[in-house]
Parts: sequence; structure tokens; C-alpha cells
Amino acid sequence: MTTTTCEWEQAVLGALASGDWTAQLRTHLTTCPACADAALVARAMGEIAASTPDGTLPDPGLIWQAAARSERRQAVERVTRPITVMTWLALATGAVAAIAGSVWKWPAIQGQLVAAGRSLLAPAPPTMAELPVAVVAVASFAVFIAAFRLFESWAAD
Ligand SMILES: [Zn+2]
Repeated sequence: MTTTTCEWEQAVLGALASGDWTAQLRTHLTTCPACADAALVARAMGEIAASTPDGTLPDPGLIWQAAARSERRQAVERVTRPITVMTWLALATGAVAAIAGSVWKWPAIQGQLVAAGRSLLAPAPPTMAELPVAVVAVASFAVFIAAFRLFESWAAD
């Protein structure tokens, strides 16, 4: 969009409104960026006005605020796109690593699941040999929850 004005701009806008185009105005419109932009905006505003129930345009301030909001939203999306891509890449990598680790260590995992199922069916107090494993498991779960909460708080900002 150009910011310069042209002495023919009002004549072009008048012709656009009335439909009375001269050959000279048509030629000028094809060669003048300022008049082409003015005609583009006038046509767009006319389409907006035609789409309203009473044919009047909304408050220009509201249109400007909506455009500014849209521009800010697009800028934020453009700036945060790498973060979004890296977040999804990290989640996908973590999922692939979890699946690969589960497949790789499946016999041990299966043994733990069977043992856990047995202990749920017939609960027994942990032995002193099992206590460090239980502490590490609870600590690992707490670290996972803390990391997830931290990620959530960063994602919310
Ligand atoms: Zn012009």
C-alpha cells in the first residue's frame, strides 16, 4: 500500500462511486499505485457496507482496532511458531523414545507388571531390598509431575 496521494484520487473515487469512468481515468488507474490502492480500499469498504443490514459501515475505530488485533495475533503466531514446532518435536521425540525403550526393555517391563499385578492381588509390605526401588519410583514420578507442571506454567505464559 502506498502512502502518497495523487491529485486524481478524488476523481477516481468519484468515478468508482458513480460508475462514470472516462478513458483518461481508466488509464490513470492502471498506472498510478496511489489511485489503485485507493480504489482497492474503496471497493473493499463498499463490499463491507453492502454486507451490513442497513448498508452503513461500522465505526472506523472498531475496524481499526480489529485490524490491529488481527495484526498482533498474526505477529505472535509468527514469532511463537518455532516454539510450537519445537514443542511438538520434543513431544514426538519423547513418545518415540518411550515406545522404543518399552520395546527394548519389554521383558523387564513385563516382569515388573506381572510382579505389580501379583502384589496388588496379594499385597505385602515391601522388604528392605525393595525399599530403594520404591523410593526411586516415587521420586521419579514426583520429578515427572513437577516437570509437567513447569512446562504447563511456561506454556501458559
Ligand atoms: Zn493517481
